[in-house]
This record gives sequence, structure tokens and C-alpha cells, in this order.
Amino acid sequence: MPFSKAVDSRILLTRLRETLAEAAEGQERLNRIVRLIADGLVAEVCSVYLRRDEDTLELCATEGLKAEAVHLTRLRLGQGLVGRIAETATPLSTRDAPKTPGFRFMPETGEEIYSSFLGVPIQRLGEVLGVLVIQNRTPRDYTEDETYALEVVAMVIAEMAELGAFIGPGPMEIAEQHKRPFFVRGIVGQEGVAEGRVLLHEPQVVVSQPITDDPAHERTRLHGAIERLRAEVDEMLAADYLGGKGEHRDVLYTYRMFAHDKGWVRRIEASIDSGLAAEVAVEKEQSATRTRMSRTPDPYLRERLHDLDDLSNRLLRLLAGRTPDQGRDVFEDAILVARNIGPGELLDYGRRLKGVVLEEGSVGSHAAIVARALAIPLVVHAERITREAKNGDPILLDGDVGTVHLRPEETVAQAFREKVDMRAEAQQAYAALVDKPATTRDGVTLGLMMNAGLMADLPSLPKCGALGVGLFRTELQFLIRTSVPKRTDLAALYGRIFDAAKGKPVTFRTLDIGSDKVLPYMKREDEPNPALGWRAIRVGLDRPGILRMQVQALLRGAQGRPLSVMFPFVTEAEEFDRARELFAKVLARETAMGHTTPERIEIGAMLETPSLAFAPERFFDTVDFLSIGGNDLKQFFFAADRENERVRRRYDVLSTCFLNFLDHIVARAAAHATPLSFCGEDAGRPVEAVAFAASGLTTLSMRAASIGPVKLALRSVDLGAARTVISDARRAGAGSVRPALEAWLAATGVPH
Ligand code: PEP
Ligand code: MG
Repeated sequence: MPFSKAVDSRILLTRLRETLAEAAEGQERLNRIVRLIADGLVAEVCSVYLRRDEDTLELCATEGLKAEAVHLTRLRLGQGLVGRIAETATPLSTRDAPKTPGFRFMPETGEEIYSSFLGVPIQRLGEVLGVLVIQNRTPRDYTEDETYALEVVAMVIAEMAELGAFIGPGPMEIAEQHKRPFFVRGIVGQEGVAEGRVLLHEPQVVVSQPITDDPAHERTRLHGAIERLRAEVDEMLAADYLGGKGEHRDVLYTYRMFAHDKGWVRRIEASIDSGLAAEVAVEKEQSATRTRMSRTPDPYLRERLHDLDDLSNRLLRLLAGRTPDQGRDVFEDAILVARNIGPGELLDYGRRLKGVVLEEGSVGSHAAIVARALAIPLVVHAERITREAKNGDPILLDGDVGTVHLRPEETVAQAFREKVDMRAEAQQAYAALVDKPATTRDGVTLGLMMNAGLMADLPSLPKCGALGVGLFRTELQFLIRTSVPKRTDLAALYGRIFDAAKGKPVTFRTLDIGSDKVLPYMKREDEPNPALGWRAIRVGLDRPGILRMQVQALLRGAQGRPLSVMFPFVTEAEEFDRARELFAKVLARETAMGHTTPERIEIGAMLETPSLAFAPERFFDTVDFLSIGGNDLKQFFFAADRENERVRRRYDVLSTCFLNFLDHIVARAAAHATPLSFCGEDAGRPVEAVAFAASGLTTLSMRAASIGPVKLALRSVDLGAARTVISDARRAGAGSVRPALEAWLAATGVPH
């Protein structure tokens, strides 16, 4: 990097700082800035275009173009050279602007006489706030130094815009960042509604003084922070729980590589030498990374750029002297906004949160599972939310439909509050049913159980009115830790779960890892189709050590009480035989060692692959019970990935195909008097629950929040009549019984 570049930018920045220090209103301040830049870069024109809204840029100040065009000339994103710069977040330079493809003639500006054009995006952390342009009459090529200087100035303008330096009365109100209402439709992660204020998981660093007159000092600060950053990464690598290989370790190696990348550090140093504060210099690099990230189609490369982005965030935090845990003071009505969050971190926040909004994340992610366990409304895939939201912003989260209103208009907030009130009324109606049985109007009683996975779930058991826990997902305890839990700890935990259930039955499912559930401390197998790969009981049988340890912990945790255990993802009868054999051996050993063993033991299997529905007759006699894992069964039955938003909701369990299949399973279980239940998400939906009950299922297990609505629907329905509606629709050749059933439920006043 030539030295002259640094010197040029520094003089410009020093003058800019003086200008910014002068008292002036937004418009006047911006006018002075364009004058100063035109002067400093010997340009006849300097103009600033700012983003008016998502799609429009507005000329907000100019030196050289006609003054009457200010606040009049507007361009759509992608339109003209300026619009193109904003859209691509890339500088553009040409010696003959009018002949450059995409040039848009704007007569009101009088710019046709200027031939050369250089424009750069004004961006902060990858978000384009506007465009800064210089123009000259004579055709000329702008040097790399000039582009660099303009970029550096644009960084400062971006920081100042963030601080509200250009806000003024009248047209300059558009410079007010993050004040407009913002609406985003994401995906439902956990139902529920909440009104509160934004709590950013990663609060942004606000830089009050973006320009420095002491680059040496800024360099020292940068080097200090980089040293600490490198030490942090080394510490993480040395942490023994990450022993072995695995994806986490790969990420850390990438971190280390970036943290030691001389090019990265040198570019940040050069920006400091140009007169930028260390934080802004890091942000400048980060903006470039984010622009590249949004453009690269290669998922691997995008991931790596993501890592670099994370690393920049860490560096910014270190520069600001903030540890990641600070700023997490959870205020009373906090709704957490994050790009993504790990299950452990979410548990740290715990029930103090009123809601969670994630920019990424997925419905099946562990964070989503934790949010469900804590009954916190969650919306995932809320695009741009982390960029739009500021700490403390008012926010409305509608987890029922997956929408988020940031800084809402009062009318929107009013309508939302009405919805909240209606929900509260419904909750009261459910609460009144807690001790009542789920008996239909024609006298059929169903067993409603709840699904759980964390100790945090158990308090819901008496409150929701479930008869017990039909599915306890034991892997969650493994997922939220950084190392394999110890047997004694597990046994103690299982003991506490028994205690908390107060005699109500709990069915523990043994570890279901693999596929979407990846343990951070276990070597990850790279599989082309993890959902069809090495997971659940397959892992348990191939690596029996953990399964044995878990069975032992369950036996000890029971402390003599009846124990119900089921194995996940059983595909063939032989797998169940082997798992049961392993269980028997552990039990025999426990007995030989003199440990108390459960007074009664039931060992079941989850029916999650179509294959098991066609198992040999003897299988139905060997299992003590069967539980249909509808989430997995559905994905294999319809060949539709449960994690893939494009196909996830495409197929319906109320389709005649699936109901035919369900009939087959119900009939086989009945022929052997094998107890059968359904524990996938669909069991918790009132319409589905009625249809399943009509198919002959007598036990349904669902999340706690679904017990009330399902019980209310079942208690209001005449099951015999529902059965007739369903069979009529099937006989009439309906692809799905849903339309007929829903219409009938509505007509007969069954809440659903
Ligand atoms: C299922 O597959 O339906 C199930 C209950 O298990 P999980 O969702 O944990 O895979
Ligand atoms: Mg499953």
C-alpha cells in the first residue's frame, strides 16, 4: 500500500473531523462535507445520495450539481450508476459516464457535462446506507488512492449517519436510521405472541469518534485486541472437551487462520493510518467481507466468510472492552434478537425472555427445541432483523403466524394487543380443563401426554393437564453440554425427573443423535444424507458405550420406580432385539452389583421408518409398546425433508395416503394388543388429533402448550360422527380429508 494514500486520506479526514465538530444542522453539515470532499479530491462535483427506503436513493447534498435537484432526484436501487453501486455494494469508476452501460440521464441535475465518475457505497456492516460520488468534466481515470480515500470518507459518513449526525428538520429526516417501522415474515418456531423491547444478543459497537488524530495509539489498541483475540481462539482450541476432530474444531482452525492472516491485519492497519479509528477500520473490512458473503454462491466459502465475520465481531467486542457476556442484562420485557443462537446460550437467558427472533435458525434446530421447552414464542428466518433492530426498540412477535413488527405503528400495536387478549381468554378456557379427562362427546377417552426434554419442561406437567410424559427426548441434555455428561450426573438428573413427575409415567427415549442433532463434542460424520444416515439407534448399536452408560443411568435414576424406555428410529426388528439385549445385560449387571432395579420395566420402540410398519409378526409381540414418531415417519413416507422449508409443509398427514398407512399400523398393533401412541408434532394439532383418534389411536403425546387446545377439541367432538365424515370423504376419493373434516368441525362448533 503506497504511503501517499495514507497521507492523503489523513489530511482529508482531519479536515472532516473539524467540520463534523462544528455546530450545524443535518443538511448544512452534509453540504459542508460534500464541499470539503470536492475540494480535497480536486473534483468539480461531490454528491451524497442516501437511502430513502428499501428501494429508493435520494440526492441529499451536492457540490457542483444543480442545487434544486437536492431532495428531488431519486433513483431506484439498481437504477443508473448510483443505483448500481448501492445494489452491488461495489465502487464504480468510469472516464465516460454518459456512455457507461446503465447510465441514467437526469436533466434536473445538470450532470451531463461531467464525464468522469467515481462512486462508492456508504455502508456500515454490510448495509448500504447510500452512495458517495465525485465527478469531473475532463475524462480521466481515478487512481486507486482516490477510490480508497473516498471509501474511507464514506465509512466516516456511515458512522456519522448511524449516530444521527445528518438528521435535521424537513427532508433530512430521511437520514434517521432505524426509526421507520420494519416488518418481516419469518417462519414459526414456537407458537405464542409477545410484545416487548429488543434485546440484541450481539449488541453492535457504536463508535462515537470514527476519526483519529493518533493512528499510533489506534494501532496499539488494535494490536492489543488482536493479541487477545488470538489467545481466545487458542484457548478454545486447547479446551479439552473439543478433543478429536469435528466441525467445531474446523471452525476454530479457520478462526485461528484468519486471526493470524497478515493481509487482514495489514488492511485494517492501513485504514487506521488513513485516519480511521480502530473499530471503524475493522468495520470497513467487515463490510467488505459481508458484501463478498452475500455474493458467493459456494456454500463452503460462504461459511468461511461467516467465520471471518464472527471473528470481526469478537475483535470489535475486544476493542470496545466488552466481554461477550456483558450487555446481557435481561430487562423485563426483553425479546431476544440474534442471527443465530446455541441451545446452551438460550438456556442461559432462560425464561426471562418474552420471545426470540432469529435471522437464521431452523424449526428443528436445538435452539428451537429449547425455546419450545421454555414455551418462549420463536420466529426463525426473520430476514435482516439483526440489521434493523436496535437495543430497546419496541417489537411485536407473533409466533402463531411467524411475523415480527419492529417499531410498529400504534394501529398495528393495538390490533396485536387485541390478539394477545383473545389468546389469554383461550388460555383460561384450557386451564379450566386441566383436571378433566380428554373424553369425547360419545364417551371415548384418550390419553394425552406431553413431550419433554429438559428439566425446565417438568413444571408444565401438572399445569397443562397431561397424564404423563409420553416422550422425554434425552439427547437435549447431551446437546446443551460441552462434553459427555457423567453417568452419576445423568442418573441424578433422571432421578429428579422422576421426582418432578410425582408418580406420573415418563417414557424416556434413549439418545437420538445424528441427522440434525449433532453433539458438539462428537466426531461428525460427513454424510450426504444425514437424515437417512448414521443416527439414533444405529449410532447406539455401533458405539454401545454411551447407550450402556445411559441405560445404567436410567436404571439408577428410577430408584426402584417403574421405568419406561424406548429406542428411537428402529428400522428392523433385529435392531430392537439387539438394543433390548444390551438393556438386559446392563440390567443383569446392575442386579449383580446389588443396585436397586425398577419394579417394572417396559421397553418400546419408536416407529419412525415405514419399514417397521411391515415388520414380522413376532416384532409386535416382542415390543412392550410402540410410539409413532410422526415427524420422521412423515418425512420418509412422503420423501420430504422435515427441515426443508420448500417441501416441509407440502404433504399432509390427513391425506388419504397417510391415513391408509396409519390404519395399517393401528390394525397391526391392535392384532397383537401392542399399546400404540403418536408423539410427533402433528398429535398436538386439534384437527389432526381428532383424525388420529378417529383412526383408533388412543394415546397422543404433544408439547405441553398443545394439551389444552387438543383436549378442548376432543371434549367437544362426537368421534363416531367424525369417523363418518372422514370415511365418507375417503370413499368419495378425496386426496385429503382435511377440507371435509375442517368444514364439519366448524359447522358443529368444535374449536380447532
Ligand atoms: C418424531 O420423529 O416424530 C419424534 C418425535 O422424534 P424427533 O422429533 O425428536 O425426531
Ligand atoms: Mg424422530
